[in-house]
Amino acid sequence: MEKNWKLETIAVQEGYTPENGGPRVVPITQSTTFKYDDAQSVAELFDLKRAGFFYTRLANPTVDCFEKKIAAMEGGVAAVATTSGQSANALAIMNIARAGDHIVSISSLYGGTFTLFASSMKKMGIEFSFISPEASDEELEKAIRPNTKAIFGETLANPALIVLDIERYAAIAHKHGLPLIVDNTFPTPVLCRPFEYGADIVTHSTTKYIDGHATSIGGIVVEKGGFPWDNGKFPDLVEPDVTYHGTSYLRDFPACPYSVKMRVQWIRDLGNPQTPFNAFLSMLGAETLPLRMEKHSSNAQKMAEFLANHPKVGWVNYHGLPSNDNNHLLAKKYLPDGCSGVLCFGVKGGSAAGERVMNALKLAAICVHVADIRTCVLHPASMTHRQLSEKELLAAGVSPDLIRLSVGIEHIDDIIADFSQALDKA
Ligand SMILES: *Cc1c(COP(=O)(O)O)cnc(C)c1O
Repeated sequence: MEKNWKLETIAVQEGYTPENGGPRVVPITQSTTFKYDDAQSVAELFDLKRAGFFYTRLANPTVDCFEKKIAAMEGGVAAVATTSGQSANALAIMNIARAGDHIVSISSLYGGTFTLFASSMKKMGIEFSFISPEASDEELEKAIRPNTKAIFGETLANPALIVLDIERYAAIAHKHGLPLIVDNTFPTPVLCRPFEYGADIVTHSTTKYIDGHATSIGGIVVEKGGFPWDNGKFPDLVEPDVTYHGTSYLRDFPACPYSVKMRVQWIRDLGNPQTPFNAFLSMLGAETLPLRMEKHSSNAQKMAEFLANHPKVGWVNYHGLPSNDNNHLLAKKYLPDGCSGVLCFGVKGGSAAGERVMNALKLAAICVHVADIRTCVLHPASMTHRQLSEKELLAAGVSPDLIRLSVGIEHIDDIIADFSQALDKA
């Protein structure tokens, strides 16, 4: 970053620098462990007195390169790659909240994140208040309690596509001594870098655009650095950790205490690091991310325009449409270079007509996936979000007829032709 590179260059060059005569591309270090000549070195590694690799559950050279690349792309100081986006969001919360604590979250969330927060974490004793993304400053502040530890939201909600007003939420979070955690899966650092607007922690399901080819489940948590963890609300980051002979994360790792704690405590104990092979594939994906996001966005823009003008389509939600009143201004501010490749629409005639259209598609596939190079569709109410009640679906911004379309990077003429013939059968 000190090199002042632009994002495209960071995406290609950061994370791995070959040594003289070394492999040009980051090697897959498919090894559980690492060999040392003396016992003292290993003891020092265990005590965090020395940096290095000793067991792949905690850290691995291939995964390390991937983490460095994504941290650089987001403009953060460090990152921890996890098994999945689910574990990234779970760890992002657990790293700073324990039983008896409370989190304020925006209600328009990915279905998996909602059930994680509203059900599983609740059983662990962490309580969530869900507030509307359009909540006023006063409503948001009213939701904050003395035991609140963070505010959580998605930059571009999956699938409601509501844009988070990051600057406004960050200002309120900081006023109350809280970090703002933002799931930036849909825009990726190519279209939005939440740290530039005040977010403190960014998470991703790298399964989506970062991998981009639908090969690898993965997640990552990125730390901006500089959050005042010693403001009295986060003793676990300040007080000595007895499992490391009294290490204080903030005192001993002042540059990235949140990431170090997450790795050496939670990844150690729960054992959910990203695998070297998945990190290798995700890193390959990250290298072409700027090119792909440009194409996904321009294809989705043309697709949205086609659908908006189609007589059988009842409504289209895509921020690139000027008619889109769903916080279009926020999209202009936070997504100036493109609105990503996901759009939602409803077919006239409701769910049943929508299902006929989905079944008639030939190029676009029905997949429980989103954000990869191949165009695909999904019906959230009966698939990704089917564990939610009707009320929860509404709060998440999911109407029964909503079809989520993930526009790929095929030629737009072919994608439009496919939807045109399918809509004829609505
Ligand atoms: C898919 C997704 C997740 C969960 O990620 P997995 O890699 O499937 O575990 C979390 N947040 C958002 C916004 C997602 O789209």
